[in-house]
Amino acid sequence: MSETTLFERIIAREIPADIVHEDDISIAFKDISPQAPHHILIIPKKAIPRIGQAHEDDAATLGHLLLTARKIARDLDLAEVDKGFRLVINNGKDAGESVPHLHVHLLAGRQLQWPPG
Ligand code: AMP
Repeated sequence: MSETTLFERIIAREIPADIVHEDDISIAFKDISPQAPHHILIIPKKAIPRIGQAHEDDAATLGHLLLTARKIARDLDLAEVDKGFRLVINNGKDAGESVPHLHVHLLAGRQLQWPPG
């Protein structure tokens, strides 16, 4: 059986987080080490380790994460084209994944560079 991840402990309120959104499927909280003025993590309550391990029947959950990101961006007044935000999913070692529980980074509030490092 796999170990409980840090993010599962946040979902269970075993460790604190600055939660900005919660519903039956997802929870979103501020990243503890923000890389932009707005840096929020949107995660499923279901323990999907990473996008590479998601299943066909996770489609609704995956779509929900994007719609939750959209909602948060709208709430922060970032969704118009003259503002902006970036969504990032790091999958595996080469991408810099550090927590094995699927999470979407929402980054905004400064001019973001492309390509990413
Ligand atoms: P990744 O590198 O894509 O796996 O992203 C993991 C993210 O989790 C990093 O941006 C970390 O700063 C963030 N993180 C780690 N621990 C916590 C925590 N206790 N609360 C909020 N964010 C965290």
